[in-house]
Amino acid sequence: MFSAPLPPDVSKRLQRIVDSVPDLGPESRVMDAREQYGTSSSLGNDPGMRTWVGDVESVPAYQGPFDAAFFNAVFGNVYDQRETLLRAALLLRPGGHIVVSHPEGKAWHERLHAEDPEMVPHVLPDEPELQRLTADLPLRIRSFQNNRNLYLALLQVPPAYLIQGRPLELEGEVVAGFGRGSSKMGVPTANIAPGPLAAKLEGLPLGVYFGWAQLDAGTDEPEEDSEVHKMAMNIGRRPSIEDGTDVTVEVHILHSFAAADFRSKRLRVVVGGFIRPEMRFGSLDELIARIKADVGIAKAQLDLPEHQLCKAHEMFVRNR
Ligand code: ADP
Ligand code: MG
Repeated sequence: MFSAPLPPDVSKRLQRIVDSVPDLGPESRVMDAREQYGTSSSLGNDPGMRTWVGDVESVPAYQGPFDAAFFNAVFGNVYDQRETLLRAALLLRPGGHIVVSHPEGKAWHERLHAEDPEMVPHVLPDEPELQRLTADLPLRIRSFQNNRNLYLALLQVPPAYLIQGRPLELEGEVVAGFGRGSSKMGVPTANIAPGPLAAKLEGLPLGVYFGWAQLDAGTDEPEEDSEVHKMAMNIGRRPSIEDGTDVTVEVHILHSFAAADFRSKRLRVVVGGFIRPEMRFGSLDELIARIKADVGIAKAQLDLPEHQLCKAHEMFVRNR
C-alpha cells in the first residue's frame, strides 16, 4: 500500500498490528491480502504459502480454517464490510482472530476515501459502527484502538460456547428427519425431537455447533457405541433446503455405529463451541462442502485440551 521509502515508524506500527493477535506463532495459519506476496501460482510458490486470487467474499471454505485473518490497509476497499467479516469469520477456527487495521490511522485513510470513493468505497468503522457490523455475527470485539496514526481492531470468534458459564446440554429421543442427511449429503444426522427442548433452544443462535455425544445404544450393541464421541450439530431451519420452517436439531456423530439406524434411542449432547451462523447456500454442493468443513473444524477443535472437560461431563458419566 505504501511506496518506498515507508513513512516514518510504519514498520513499528505494523509490528504492533501483528503482535495484537495472541498466540500467533510459526505453526499458525494466517489469511492475508495478496499485495504482500507477489504473483500467484495454482501450486503455491512457497511451501508455507498458498495464493488464491478472487474476492475475499468467495474464498473457498477448504482454504481454512485459519488462526487469524488480517485486513491491513484494505478494509476500506472491500465491497461489503459486513459480508467480508462474516466470510472471514467462517474461515476461522473457533477462538481465531480477525484484525482490521491501518498503520496511518482512520483520519489519514478518510482522505483516500474522499479522493477516490470508487477505489475506496468505505471509511474505517468507528467502534459503534463496528459493533453494528458484527452484531449478528459470531464475532466479539476484543480490543479497539483508534489513535492518530494507528487504527487497530481485534475481533474474535468465541472459543467455546457457554451459557451462564456452563456448556449447553441437550438430551432427547432420536426421531426421523427428512431422510436426506445420508442419502443427499453423505453425512447422516440424528435428529433429536425438538419439542421437549423448546425452552433450552429459545434465544439460541441458529447455526452449527460442535461438542460431544453419547447414544444409549443398548446392551446388544458394541460397548464403544455407547461411549462419548465427537459430534457436529446443526440447530436451524435449513434455509438451503426447501423443507419446512420449524427449527430442527440434527447431530452428526463422528463414529461408525454397528447399527445403521438408531432412531427411537436416547441421545445426549454437550455443546462445546459454535462454528458458524445458519446461512443460505447457493447450491447443494456448496452446502455439502461447507458441512464437510464444519465437521473438520469440530474434529480438530475437540482435540484441544479445553474441550476434554466437556467430554467428562457429569451427564455422560451418570449414564455410563
Ligand atoms: P433422518 O433425516 O431421518 O435424520 P439421516 O439421513 O439424517 O436421516 O440419517 C440419520 C440417521 O442415521 C440417524 O437417525 C441414525 O439412526 C443413523 N446414523 C447412523 N450413523 C450415524 C452417525 N454417525 N451420526 C448420526 N446418525 C447416524
Ligand atoms: Mg437427519
